[in-house]
Amino acid sequence: MTDDAERAAEYEALERSSAITQSTRSMRKRSLVSLTHCLECGEKIPEKRRQAEPGCELCVKCKSWEEKGGSFWP
Ligand SMILES: [Zn+2]
Repeated sequence: MTDDAERAAEYEALERSSAITQSTRSMRKRSLVSLTHCLECGEKIPEKRRQAEPGCELCVKCKSWEEKGGSFWP
């Protein structure tokens, strides 16, 4: 039954590599990549700001509003 054992090993390797791919993907999702557009108002986030604040999701206006405790949905 060498074939079955080989197939099992192959399958296991495949499973493992796909698990690695998935964890890499989720890691990338969590990594600090700035958005190109504000999550709240959809305004373009300036390149300078995206580089200055990795992982930023809001434009300057919305970010300062949020920091002041402002609500977007009154
Ligand atoms: Zn905004």
